[in-house]
Amino acid sequence: MAFYSEEEKTEDYLFKIVLIGDSAVGKSNLLARFARDEFYPNSKSTIGVEFQTQKMEINGKEIKAQIWDTAGQERFRAVTSAYYRGAVGALVVYDISRRPTFDSIGRWLNELHTHSDMNVVTILVGNKCDLKDGREVGTAEGKALAEAQGLFFIETSALDSSNVTNAFQTVVKEIYNILSRKVM
Ligand code: GDP
Repeated sequence: MAFYSEEEKTEDYLFKIVLIGDSAVGKSNLLARFARDEFYPNSKSTIGVEFQTQKMEINGKEIKAQIWDTAGQERFRAVTSAYYRGAVGALVVYDISRRPTFDSIGRWLNELHTHSDMNVVTILVGNKCDLKDGREVGTAEGKALAEAQGLFFIETSALDSSNVTNAFQTVVKEIYNILSRKVM
């Protein structure tokens, strides 16, 4: 016969989520905005790989999202496999005001799929949507790529906070839903 105390019944979830995309698309600032509600106009304060753990509540369950940011190490391929290991979610970020960062998305998706599970929940994030005059990548283009690749899609601004929480929550919720279906 099994005995469960209320405490034992409380499940604890820890989801590793990685931020990827070209340099300066706003990965560190998306994380800073989400985890600390901060923004750095001239960032590159952090060198190395860092992560932040952010508590979230989904369906009354406490979930810890451990979000990893390369913090400028995109070019140091030695960190690659450790960076992706165990990831269950990914935000693949481009800058809507710099088309080359959108052109790189395929390469980032390849790398993600080479180093992690194919089922990693992925959202394509078009950041800097506050830069309306400088837009080089249309919303429809982002959406179409996401659809073609089977990804979620969102446009964000770490500067004015648009959709930042929403982007992280979309990934966490979907991971939670997949997990709940597996457990049942
Ligand atoms: P990372 O290299 O991808 O981590 O990019 P950072 O977060 O360091 O951001 C690169 C630059 O873009 C910094 O100067 C940021 O202040 C700026 N930046 C980041 N997000 C936004 C945004 O949503 N809007 C605008 N206008 N600038 C942003």
